[in-house]
Amino acid sequence: MKQSEKLLEQRRREMVETLRQYGISNSRVLEAFLRVKRHLFFPEDAVGCAYNDSAYPIGFSQTISQPYTVAIMSTLLAERCPGGKVLEIGTGSGYQAAILEAMGYQVFSVERFVGLYERAEKLFSRLGIRVLCRHGDGSLGWIEEAPFDGIMVTAGAPREPRPLMQQLAEKGCMVIPIGGYDSQQMTVIQREGDEFHRELFQQFVFVPLVGNEGWESRVF
Ligand code: SAH
Repeated sequence: MKQSEKLLEQRRREMVETLRQYGISNSRVLEAFLRVKRHLFFPEDAVGCAYNDSAYPIGFSQTISQPYTVAIMSTLLAERCPGGKVLEIGTGSGYQAAILEAMGYQVFSVERFVGLYERAEKLFSRLGIRVLCRHGDGSLGWIEEAPFDGIMVTAGAPREPRPLMQQLAEKGCMVIPIGGYDSQQMTVIQREGDEFHRELFQQFVFVPLVGNEGWESRVF
């Protein structure tokens, strides 16, 4: 192992310790964070920042989410939906999808920027990460693969996207930040028959979910 790899591994362990101190205790989540090399999802010239607890630009005005945010969302999902098929909206760098895959889910992911989609798909295949991804408007879900046991939206939505609710399996659970353009409340929606139960958590700041069921944008 090269020295720098050793250093990165050390930094990864420290990141996991920080998450523990922030109250993340789910062992499946923590193990996935130890296993997935976050620096591989970073631009090459920024690898040194990969284990800071912060978001980072990945191009196209988008960001890889902060580790703490990824950990909270993964924990909320794992507690309510321990296994099965999960749909992620907003592939971005691919890191969150890789964490879900490492936790044992069967992962599907949709990205609206073709450049990000292509980069993530290449990375998944190079690293042998089994995530099926596609380019498109994820606010409409992935109807051919529905229903999903879990849905995770990694961009801030202005409201609950109807098509995503309809693509939840019975007892399925969606983790989604909902609110204004500048800050959103983490929301968990669980389906029981035709009823949807909601739980509300802290405020976060996400890049906007754009598209049919999101904010308006002409960029696709
Ligand atoms: N999960 C990503 C976070 C990326 S930021 C990661 O781990 O790196 C949110 C992503 O959502 C961005 O890449 C953005 O382009 C994407 N996005 C926003 N609206 C979308 C939509 N309607 N469909 C698919 N992707 C969308």
